[in-house]
Amino acid sequence: MTAQGEGADRAEPDTGSPTAGTVPTPAVESMVVLDHVVCGYGSTAVLHDVSLSLGSGFHVLIGPNGSGKTTLFRCVAGILLPSKGSVTTRAGRNIGYAMHRSAFSSKMTLMDNLRYWSILFGSGDQTRIVESLRFVDLEDRAHQKVGQLSRGLVQRLAVARALLTDAEVLLLDEPLSGVDPSAVEKLLVLFQKLGDSGKCVVVSTHELAELNEMSGDVIVLQNGTIVGQGTPGELLAKTAGDHPIRWRIAGGAGLREAIQALGLTLTGGSVADNVAEFYVKDDAQAGEVNRELTDQGVSVRSSSAVVDDLTRLYRLLEDKKAS
Ligand code: ADP
Repeated sequence: MTAQGEGADRAEPDTGSPTAGTVPTPAVESMVVLDHVVCGYGSTAVLHDVSLSLGSGFHVLIGPNGSGKTTLFRCVAGILLPSKGSVTTRAGRNIGYAMHRSAFSSKMTLMDNLRYWSILFGSGDQTRIVESLRFVDLEDRAHQKVGQLSRGLVQRLAVARALLTDAEVLLLDEPLSGVDPSAVEKLLVLFQKLGDSGKCVVVSTHELAELNEMSGDVIVLQNGTIVGQGTPGELLAKTAGDHPIRWRIAGGAGLREAIQALGLTLTGGSVADNVAEFYVKDDAQAGEVNRELTDQGVSVRSSSAVVDDLTRLYRLLEDKKAS
């Protein structure tokens, strides 16, 4: 079995079993287990005591630039060895790893690029190449040159490349960056489909707006430490304390001042357009604010929660880091 990585120095991974009882028992069978992993470059540790257990499905790894997402992928893919702890994958070393910049020749066709990688991975299986292209819906473009593809399509080709060995674990580093919103939507559907097919798909990103609608597993990495794992809602409930909902009201003159007079802190909105954003405990508290505004004669045009869970989560983490 082979791990797929490009360019970096390769080393045999430590595939020792995790120590019993040190990693929380997951509900589904683990496909990737990191047990108290310390990993980095030379004597500099980037990941500090990371324990993580992932089953099949679509997982998103979020964290600011430099938080260690790529290092974590390299460690799982066996490109970097942990200096402490262990990494175990059910797939052994058959891991599909699509790096941030996937190495494709822009002058060669999609088919030829995949054939090149397939041979490099030791197979060259034409049926598998065609199946991989079909899975990412690029079969019709098989004979186009990669240089003619948009960034979103190149990312889909990178997924096809990661599928060449039918890897059970797919690590996709920043596949959404620089991709336009409609292509992001298609990629998310593709990742979900791969997760539903029984693979463990881990996608890293620092661009969150597109992920707000996802309800799956999110892992939050910060300064090389996992600071949260769960659905966006669960993570927010843990991180945001007792005022988890961002609320936006658009109304008439005096709106922002009236909300502040109620003891709420404005966190956004627009002075010119009389729009206010603030955090509330729950819908009931937002309802009370609306009533107060009406009582004070301030008109309300619209009043609703802002669905930006992951962006909010990110900001909370940044605030924590800064404080
Ligand atoms: P992310 O993917 O979250 O942006 P990385 O894993 O790329 O984070 O980087 C985490 C830290 O490791 C950063 O401080 C970065 O400078 C450092 N780093 C990344 N690659 C190397 C390398 N090849 N040699 C030394 N340090 C590195």
